[in-house]
Amino acid sequence: MAVTVRFAPSPTGRLHAGNIRTALFNYLFARKEGGRLLLRLDDTDTERSTEEFAAGIREDLAWLGLEWADEVRQSDRFDRYAEAVEKLKASGRLYPAYETPEDLELKRKRQLARGKPPVYDRAALKLTDEDRALLEKEGRSPHWRFKLESRDVAWDDLVRGRQHVDAASLSDPVLVREDGTYLYTLPSVVDDIELGITHVIRGEDHVANTAPQIQLFEALGARPPAFGHHNLLVSADGQALSKRDRALSIAALREEGLEPMAVASYAAIIGTSDPVTPHADLGELVEGFDFAKLSRAPARFDGNELRLLNAKLLHTLAYEVVADRLRAMGVAGGKAFWEAVRGNLTVLENAKLWWQVVDGPLEPVIEDRDLCQTAAKLLPPEPWDGETWAQWSSAVKDATGAKGRALFQPLRLALTAHEQGPELKYLLPLMGRARVVARLEGKNC
Ligand code: GLU
Repeated sequence: MAVTVRFAPSPTGRLHAGNIRTALFNYLFARKEGGRLLLRLDDTDTERSTEEFAAGIREDLAWLGLEWADEVRQSDRFDRYAEAVEKLKASGRLYPAYETPEDLELKRKRQLARGKPPVYDRAALKLTDEDRALLEKEGRSPHWRFKLESRDVAWDDLVRGRQHVDAASLSDPVLVREDGTYLYTLPSVVDDIELGITHVIRGEDHVANTAPQIQLFEALGARPPAFGHHNLLVSADGQALSKRDRALSIAALREEGLEPMAVASYAAIIGTSDPVTPHADLGELVEGFDFAKLSRAPARFDGNELRLLNAKLLHTLAYEVVADRLRAMGVAGGKAFWEAVRGNLTVLENAKLWWQVVDGPLEPVIEDRDLCQTAAKLLPPEPWDGETWAQWSSAVKDATGAKGRALFQPLRLALTAHEQGPELKYLLPLMGRARVVARLEGKNC
């Protein structure tokens, strides 16, 4: 069967670095296997789900280049869930329960006090028709629980290896709330069945849902898919990430000017045995992708490490890859400019600063007036090339006796107004003689 996977975010917030790992692993696995990735919007919570968040999710995925074959929304599929509910009721696997949250809390406390695991005691199964009629007459509506079969449930997790869960140790999960709304468990399984999902790849926080969901697949007459639960992301100080942590949202990383491939490379690599190095395109990540490389320990997201990776990626990017974006930023320098400055960028946006250094206007910093005046007189005629700087600075050294910092720093400050930057050997021909002369004379140009 052709591999089909899904990325299933809830449109109740923007994607963050943690969600993106789930999206990426699904995408990379699908591409590696020649399969399809679906985007499933888990928007059964109609109050917290918004169109704006849905659009944000699509935008973030598209920015990262993670293409999906099709999109489905759970809110379009309520009739399918209702059908599944009827089927489960008919087979006796879904039963009504009437306990209030307070009742359940009380039961829990009692069980714990007696040293017992707080597992739902199935008291609702003992209710007679009259009991139920009475409760409903009192105005109580039921929530609906899925009756688990008390047996060992096992699966070969793509990441964690063989897993066993004794379903007798679990509470029968609530599938439908008192108000008729669905918890995530059932819609997800119904969709996975109907969309032909072959592999469910998701975060470790869902491991506990897997045994009940496997029983649900079977109760609905379907073969369960394969499951893979990847490690979760924690911040550099070991805290779990939250949707509210805006600094780690993909939108914020994009606004900061980071490259999509830096974010994708970083997200795909942290928490694996691979070294943190930049990859130029998703194809490279597909080649290196393997669940076996994923660590069982949490993956640490360190913003500084990501920024460093972004810089490393920029340092290797070919001019053709960035040419359009440079033009859109108003940077008119060509290939020679790009190759001169890329090693000094943290984000692409920094190229603007160096373009202004090359193209002006710039207020030069004159630290040593005499040296600059002598240097201006010694400038060779154009055309200039990569050798010009060495010849010229050596002539200035001979004429003034200055060397090392005393020679180079006044020249760099006069020409660029910055203490550090790209090699002057490359900047000089880009600036041109007239501008260099003017700046050595202290003119803003
Ligand atoms: N909407 C669920 C989540 O974002 C999907 C879980 C799953 O992949 O089954 O956690």
